[in-house]
Amino acid sequence: MSAPQPIRNLILVLGDQLDLESSAFDGFDPALDCVWMAEVEEESQHVWTSKQRIAVFLSAMRHFAKAIRHKNWPLHYTRLDAVNNFGSLGLQLEADLAQLRPSALVMAAPGDWRVLQSLYATAKKVNLQLDVREDRHFFSTVREFADHARGRKQVRLEYWYRALRLQHGLLMDANDPTAPEGGQWNFDADNRQSFGKTGPVNLPLPHRFAPDGLTQEVIALVNHRFANHPGTLNSFGWPVNRAQALQALQQFIEQRLPLFGLYEDAMWAGEPWLYHSLLSVALNLKLLNPREVVAAAEVAYRQGAAPLAATEGFIRQILGWREYVRGVYWTQMPSYVERNALDAQAALPAFYWTCDTDMACLRDALQQTLQHGYAHHIQRLMVTGLYALLFGVKPQAVHHWYLSVYVDAVEWVELPNTLGMSQYADGGLMASKPYVASGKYIQRMSNHCKGCRFDPAQSTGETACPYTTLYWDFLQRHETSLTKNPRMGMQLKNLARLDTASRQAIADQAQAHRAQVNAITT
Ligand code: FAD
Repeated sequence: MSAPQPIRNLILVLGDQLDLESSAFDGFDPALDCVWMAEVEEESQHVWTSKQRIAVFLSAMRHFAKAIRHKNWPLHYTRLDAVNNFGSLGLQLEADLAQLRPSALVMAAPGDWRVLQSLYATAKKVNLQLDVREDRHFFSTVREFADHARGRKQVRLEYWYRALRLQHGLLMDANDPTAPEGGQWNFDADNRQSFGKTGPVNLPLPHRFAPDGLTQEVIALVNHRFANHPGTLNSFGWPVNRAQALQALQQFIEQRLPLFGLYEDAMWAGEPWLYHSLLSVALNLKLLNPREVVAAAEVAYRQGAAPLAATEGFIRQILGWREYVRGVYWTQMPSYVERNALDAQAALPAFYWTCDTDMACLRDALQQTLQHGYAHHIQRLMVTGLYALLFGVKPQAVHHWYLSVYVDAVEWVELPNTLGMSQYADGGLMASKPYVASGKYIQRMSNHCKGCRFDPAQSTGETACPYTTLYWDFLQRHETSLTKNPRMGMQLKNLARLDTASRQAIADQAQAHRAQVNAITT
């Protein structure tokens, strides 16, 4: 009997790299190479990960493993409940390398600095080369972003987005490939309406995928193994394989894209999905390629099935923001995660885990987050994020919460959004000013205030909305440093209208609110 063929390349595939077209598979030869995947507890424990997020990753990994086996590619897969599971990617890889003895390790660039360091450390320990290949999933490379940023005083989304649209010829004028379709790069002014008083009418419900056998097995495993982790799995319906992801994309394009832009920023109590795409999880796990998503939106526009403003607004999120935050993450790590420009030091309020708060908007966003692992952008930015910013929560605590609870959370995209855009902890790298507003913003964009015991017009007194109190308190606390920011001019001018007594009353009310919130621990 001949000895088994030694493995040439061991291809490492992580839970957010579920793409058969990945650069990691370039030159893959099933006669010589082997795929390696591992479910490890550390990825669900390094932050207190929600059941929804754990389940989506494990289920999608198992579906991807099935696709690999279907191709008859050699696969070394360690399940979470395997007896020989070593608990972390580094330790698992080290143990498996002793057995598999490949000549080299290959992978596409991971989405998390911590994971990259741990895999490099393992490779070094066993004296193997780790070939980290460019992640072709993205439109741009980190180097291109760094080149774009070099020499600019400030990097802003708008110019990066325009450069990418030009470079990739997306949504450009058919007669002039250097001009944007419709004569404008940005149609934000046509987007961002509220649902008014009547609310959304005939909302098209997004397709939710009933758990198949593999997913049901994962749900049982997660409920057993991570019983005390946040959230529930009663309503699990995320796409976990490529076919489902494509179905989700098609349904969004046909049914929700036309009104996506108009209601991009709107909120409505008890309605988690509205006209959003819900595609972030499929994109971030690499079940979908952003090129096919953006192309599908552009085709819908060209065929007259979606207005330009909605299409441009949607493409901007993916081609613009998604690529932008990735560039920020990889050019700023590892020090980025430590940043705390506003020196915020408070602990995360306990109700972020229990939903036990009288603030109707916050309760609604928290409840749907823990139920589905999802909240749309404005809920993340202007409800959960805004409250944490105004309250003065330490950005790293906010970052851990966002990384824990959302199904689409992978650090390269979560961290710049949380620490930079939402908490202004990077001092203005991501956002040109802190996203701060009083409760009146939430009142304008939703119906939450109608059913709430707090009044967004009041900053002091029994019924004062905590958002409004904390907003004025935030402006007071940071007045000196914010004065340097011209974009804060109007807000600070309004603050200047307050007399000393009003300022003191706001500060007292904010302090009392903080004390009340801090008194409750989980
Ligand atoms: P849609 O509203 O339908 O938008 C379409 C797509 O555009 C999304 O699927 C997403 O891929 C992309 N997109 C939109 N906004 C952004 C953005 N700011 N940055 C990057 N991509 C964007 N997004 C994540 O994918 N993972 C996260 O962990 C994450 N954490 C966030 C934390 C905070 C505090 C904030 C303010 C935003 C965060 N976002 C994150 C961005 C955004 O909120 C989500 O991408 C979006 O809500 C996902 O829902 P959707 O697929 O229905 O998006």
